[in-house]
Amino acid sequence: MAQQFEFDLFTIGAGSGGIAGSRRAASYGGRVGICENSRVGGTCVIRGCIPKKLLVHGAHVAEEIEEAAGFGWTIPVPTFSWPDLIAAKNREIDRLNAIYLQMLDGAGVELLEGRGRMVGPHAVQVGDRIVTAQRILIATGSRPVLPPIPGIEHAITSEEALNLPALPKRLVIVGGGYIAVEFAGIFQALGGKVTLVIRGDAVLKGFDHDVRSHLTQEMVRSGMTILAGAAVDRIERAGTDIRAHLHNSVKVLEADHILYAVGRIPNTGGLGLRDVGVELGPLDAVAVDEWSRTNVDGIYAVGDVTNRKNLTPVAIAEARAFAETAFNDNPTRFDPSRAPTAVFSMPPVATVGLSETESRQRGHAIDVYHNCFRPLKHTLSGSNRRVMMKLVVDRASDMVLGCHMVGADAAEIMQGLAIALECGATKTQFDRTVGIHPSSAEEFVTMREPSQAPPDKHFRANV
Ligand code: NDP
Repeated sequence: MAQQFEFDLFTIGAGSGGIAGSRRAASYGGRVGICENSRVGGTCVIRGCIPKKLLVHGAHVAEEIEEAAGFGWTIPVPTFSWPDLIAAKNREIDRLNAIYLQMLDGAGVELLEGRGRMVGPHAVQVGDRIVTAQRILIATGSRPVLPPIPGIEHAITSEEALNLPALPKRLVIVGGGYIAVEFAGIFQALGGKVTLVIRGDAVLKGFDHDVRSHLTQEMVRSGMTILAGAAVDRIERAGTDIRAHLHNSVKVLEADHILYAVGRIPNTGGLGLRDVGVELGPLDAVAVDEWSRTNVDGIYAVGDVTNRKNLTPVAIAEARAFAETAFNDNPTRFDPSRAPTAVFSMPPVATVGLSETESRQRGHAIDVYHNCFRPLKHTLSGSNRRVMMKLVVDRASDMVLGCHMVGADAAEIMQGLAIALECGATKTQFDRTVGIHPSSAEEFVTMREPSQAPPDKHFRANV
């Protein structure tokens, strides 16, 4: 049956999900092809997680230099070259892109350069070529969304922000999600003056309320301006300046750039999906079941294009689960509910499991353990940053439902705690675990007394 098709699997989109699913399918002997209309590696590698994290590392160097005097260092007035950092970052992206190309080649996956468009339930057109495959995997990712306000053409997105020719002295960022707070941290630490415009009271809607309030306070403490409950009505250019007019306010924000980070939408346009009967859901995301199957037999989708949990490791896990099921006779469904996540803001955030509010909403009677402290390093560094840690525990079963942290190395620490939650760890087991001393992480195993904080406290950012 499969022999009537040129490929067993053809993947549209060579980002994290598409590459992972294609390689796994090929490793089980599938004849696999993949197409990509931009650079192989996708959003995460080329214009997302990786370049962003490299800039975050650059920004942390600024912090270290600032704090060095407290440890006896005299550092002559440092200079910083944004173009040098961008060039170094680009060299690393080029290196990774080459590695991904090699990986596809090594796995025996045939790469077609160009945009894929479905021209039949088993047929994809790429340029002049039409390929046929028994199964098609849609893995085209997402792109930044820009609201239709006057002057929006003057705004930039995270993609341009990663390649600005010069470091902006003044930057307005609209949005309070992952991307907004990460870029706010980078540009503020590197010497820019950042103004964040958010609709709500605090950044990172959807995260635990203590995470949200703590990060918002830390961002303000680092010198950013956060305009809460605010919105930009229109944007105009005045010479080299950008002017952002605020809703219901005479206030006009002037900046070198205005960066919009107000969410991403699935890349489903021009793929011919509706023509072959594939159902699209809200935001035109590809509608899939828990096996990543669309409503059309043989067509699957993974990653941001399905708008489930839009994280690179989740896209990879979904893609591998698909390949295990379809090519290894090993039915595998991926459950993202305990997927940890980190926000590389300054300071960083990391979390796994349920927030306090989610736990209550699901009917758990809970105990909350909360600690906010000055880490040892800052007794000498002169910094007044504080670390926040929190555990949410189910009172009946003693199981830890959620771990949350704002502070240095949060992502590195949370990865280990995610394993504990995956194993169903209880608070008693956390308590029995010996701490590593002196570290911040040990606080996660030494919090003894539940906090008495009211369950629904709210926070409003400094305006
Ligand atoms: P998010 O969904 O995280 O946040 C969107 C933000 O924009 C929210 O603060 C939202 O406000 C605000 N917003 C939405 N519409 C408007 C509007 N019209 N005007 C003003 N503000 C608006 O989106 P991001 O773009 O930051 O990131 C996209 C996705 O990429 C994330 O959800 C995440 O899954 C992924 N990502 C993950 C990273 C990581 O793992 N470290 C890093 C970067 C991205 P409100 O809160 O009021 O709704």
